[in-house]
Amino acid sequence: TAKSSGGNGYRFFTPEMNEAAVARLSLEHALREAIEQGQFELYYQPKASLETMETVGVEALLRWRHPEMGMIPPSTFIPVAEETGMILAVGDWVLRAALEQIKRWERAGLEPLPVAVNVSVRQITSSHFAERIQSLLDEYGVRPDLLELEITETAMMSNMAFIADGLSELRGRGIRIAVDDFGTGYSSLSYLRRLPITTLKVDRSFVSEAPSNADTAAIAATIIAMGRQLGLTVVAEGIETQAQLDFLRRHRCHEAQGFLIGFPVPAAELEARCLRPARNKAAG
Ligand code: C2E
Ligand code: MG
Ligand code: MG
Ligand code: MG
Repeated sequence: TAKSSGGNGYRFFTPEMNEAAVARLSLEHALREAIEQGQFELYYQPKASLETMETVGVEALLRWRHPEMGMIPPSTFIPVAEETGMILAVGDWVLRAALEQIKRWERAGLEPLPVAVNVSVRQITSSHFAERIQSLLDEYGVRPDLLELEITETAMMSNMAFIADGLSELRGRGIRIAVDDFGTGYSSLSYLRRLPITTLKVDRSFVSEAPSNADTAAIAATIIAMGRQLGLTVVAEGIETQAQLDFLRRHRCHEAQGFLIGFPVPAAELEARCLRPARNKAAG
């Protein structure tokens, strides 16, 4: 129901806009259904230490298996979920699913690995987010240091003043904070000093070109060195080749994630490949 364009700033919808609006509405509806009908699933991608090549953590990545449309990638529905506000419900589902999984691994006698969960700005700036996370941790009985929240550099910088307090509160509770896709947001590394972050995830675009492009290599090396200087855990994203791995090791990057290390897989597959039995406490 568009108003007339008579000076009040409203315009009639064009057919194209209308179609987009309808598509958006139906996606919003579909997302709600996805939660209710269990169409969401978390996949887990391992992160390996570059020193030992052991799995030191995993990232939870959301998958939507729609009954008619098949697998819908997050790049398609996350932006819409953010615009419509549905990201709060979706994000809540993701957090619960991840915490439940950590608990399940623990109960199965497996050594619990820290799980990184992607969160959007809308979530962090929603009221009482840190308290909400805390009550979820309490509800599932999960240690705060087993949860890491990933926020993209762009999201973080778009709203730094507003986000900083929330991040400090989360960090104060022992939750780890990662800057995701670092290097794509054109922000200064000196900004990082002011944020209570623990982890720097270097964007795939730097890593992939580093072994073959001298300029990119210089930037990637600088990011790693500065991240280390700031006392952050530096993780390289999107490792696909041995040359990339060698480059990162040479530049003393801490951890690597990517298809070469392991694809994102369902929990059961990750268990079979990457999880080890918890050390027996009685035996020391
Ligand atoms: P991200 O957090 O940067 O996640 C890494 C993405 O790169 C994942 O895509 C992963 O499958 C892909 N990837 C990992 N290793 C490689 C590699 O070696 N080569 C290449 N080409 N790609 C690799 P995915 O799962 O499609 O997710 C895309 C983005 O969607 C994520 O980027 C994240 O920003 C967002 N996302 C995923 N799950 C969630 C979620 O639960 N909540 C929110 N807010 N965003 C999410
Ligand atoms: Mg991420
Ligand atoms: Mg990333
Ligand atoms: Mg990325």
